Amino acid sequence: MTESTHDEAHAGALGERLNWLRAAVLGANDGIVSTAGLVVGVAGATDDRPALITAGLAGLLAGSMSMAAGEYVSVSTQRDSEKAALAQEKRELRERPEAELAELTELLERRGLSRDVAGNAAVQLTERDALKAHARVELGIDPDTLTNPWHAAWASFLAFTAGALLPLLAMVLPPAGLRLAVTVASVLAALALTGWSSACLGGAAPARAVLRNMAGGALAMGVTYAAGSLLDVAGV
Ligand SMILES: [Zn+2]
Repeated sequence: MTESTHDEAHAGALGERLNWLRAAVLGANDGIVSTAGLVVGVAGATDDRPALITAGLAGLLAGSMSMAAGEYVSVSTQRDSEKAALAQEKRELRERPEAELAELTELLERRGLSRDVAGNAAVQLTERDALKAHARVELGIDPDTLTNPWHAAWASFLAFTAGALLPLLAMVLPPAGLRLAVTVASVLAALALTGWSSACLGGAAPARAVLRNMAGGALAMGVTYAAGSLLDVAGV
C-alpha cells in the first residue's frame, strides 16, 4: 500500500517535471522561430546593424511578454476553477459527509475495486484526508501541486527569451557579409535540437519531428526574407 502510493507520487512528480520541460522546449522553439523570422526579414530590407538590433530586441521582448501574459492568464483561469471545485468539495464534505463517503466508495468501485474493498478504502481515505481523496479520485487534481501562475509566466518568459537570443546574436554579432549564413545555420541547428528534444520528451519518432521543425523555421525565414527584400526593392 505504502509502496504503491510512493510509486504514484514519483510518477506524478516525474510527469510534472516532463510537462515543464516540454513547455520550456516549446517556448524556446517559439522564441527561435519568431525572432529568426523577424531579424531575417529586416536583414532582407536593410544592412543597418542598429535597425537589426532594434527589431530583434523588440521582437524578443514583445514575444516573451506576450507568452508570459498568455501563460499567466491561462494558468490563473485553470487554478481558479480548480480552487472553486475544491471549495465546493469541502462544503459538500462538511454538509453531507455520508453522501460523500458513498460517492467515494462508488468512484473507487468504478475503478475496479470490489464493493467491500472500495468501502474500506473510502473509509480509510476519508479518515486520513477526505478533501485530498475527493480531489484526486473525483476531480483528478492534487490540491498540493496546483500550478502557480507566476511560475508558469516566468518559465515561459525565460524559455522564449533563451530561444530568441540565438537568432538575435547570430544576426548582430558576425560581420555583415556572414550575418545571414550564420543566422540561418545556427537557427536550423537549434531547431533540430528542439525538435529532437520535444519528440523524445513526447515519446515520438525524432527524425520526422526534426525535419518538420527545421522545415517550419526555414519557411518562416524564407517568407520574411522575401517580404523584406521586396520592401527594399520597392524602396519603402
Ligand atoms: Zn466528493
